[in-house]
Amino acid sequence: MLTLISILATTALFSLAMILVLASLLRTGIPGIREWFVANICIVIALPLLILRGAIPDLISIVLANAMLGLAGACYYAGCARFLGQPPRWSWLTMAILALTAAIAYWTYLENHVQMRVIVITTYSATVCTATAILLVLYRPLNRRPYHYWFAAVVAILFAVCQLLRGAYFSSVAVPTNILSFDTAWNVAMLIIGAVTLPTMTMAAIMMVHDSMLASVEDAANHDHMTGALSRKWLEAVARDQLLRAQKTGKPLSLLVIDLDHFKRINDTYGHAGGDEVLKEFTRVTRNSLRDGDALGRLGGEEFGVLLPNTDTDVAIKIAMRLREQSEQHLISGSFGECHYSISVGIATARADESFDRLSARADGALYSAKNSGRNRVVADEDAEMLAVSIPHS
Ligand code: GH3
Ligand code: MG
Ligand code: MG
Repeated sequence: MLTLISILATTALFSLAMILVLASLLRTGIPGIREWFVANICIVIALPLLILRGAIPDLISIVLANAMLGLAGACYYAGCARFLGQPPRWSWLTMAILALTAAIAYWTYLENHVQMRVIVITTYSATVCTATAILLVLYRPLNRRPYHYWFAAVVAILFAVCQLLRGAYFSSVAVPTNILSFDTAWNVAMLIIGAVTLPTMTMAAIMMVHDSMLASVEDAANHDHMTGALSRKWLEAVARDQLLRAQKTGKPLSLLVIDLDHFKRINDTYGHAGGDEVLKEFTRVTRNSLRDGDALGRLGGEEFGVLLPNTDTDVAIKIAMRLREQSEQHLISGSFGECHYSISVGIATARADESFDRLSARADGALYSAKNSGRNRVVADEDAEMLAVSIPHS
């Protein structure tokens, strides 16, 4: 009896530790943490009730304790569903918990049948574990490495199998009325596995939370928070990667450096908030008119860079002229009023073994020419022996 009590008490302490870790993560506001937190609280309450079997009424130590275990499983599933942006399906979960509680009460009061109680709770747990594994596999975020999600799903399936084995074992042996005195090697082994299920699944959940926090930190570092364009640092990293690829494949890579014209005037006329709105709107329409593989980044202030893979100077000029025309015709309206703007664009196409710094210096030079020749223009780097000037409409 002492062995089983020690297992349950250790698990309760394990869950208590998980509660403390989850409590520290609650303030992140990541969906699902609250449900996982409640699941562990249920375990911490349920296990002492199971241990107190005989010392307190069966209604509490059997029926309520098992209902709490059922609620813990349901909360864990709901946490995973919310974390993955799926509906938690509480109506189904509530029905399952009520059915579990009714079955446990039946096999306690109408027929005192310990095997049936174990079969009911293990079948319930196996179902919840399997449903959780399916959820994790189907809805894991596809833009993240799959390791954490597969780990949680595989562990959930292993636990489901152990629960089913435990149910099968109980249906094949004679069990004493007080289950706490049933300390055969098999029962101890399976109870240990069953007891560590929720704490282990919680650790897997914490790994997923860490991955999600890492994803948002990466996202913040790689994007300009105001416009949503790539950050300068990330655009440079993408550029270096694309330069290597272009050198390997022999395909052309062009860079546009875009600067909004007379932006100081826009700020002076429409206020800083008006200027911000122009930057956001410019980013939105420009991104929408680029291809999927192109990358738009904010280099700083009102200057942007666009990387165009598989694009030679001729095509880059056409794309830049289209962006220039689009900007010229773009009327932005907001609480600050209505505003037109224009852009100047410098273009450079990568040469063999060229560094990103050299490529962007050439595109900057072309942009400088576009500014000097009157703004609202597209100029390709002269060294590329291509000079294209688009004359603005009157
Ligand atoms: P040019 O045609 O030669 O590019 O003239 P310009 O006025 O656009 O260029 P300049 O570099 O002299 O001024 C850029 C202005 O952009 C100055 C700066 O206050 C403003 N600016 C930089 N970042 C932001 C921002 O995030 N929001 C707003 N509203 N203004 C910004
Ligand atoms: Mg400017
Ligand atoms: Mg500028």
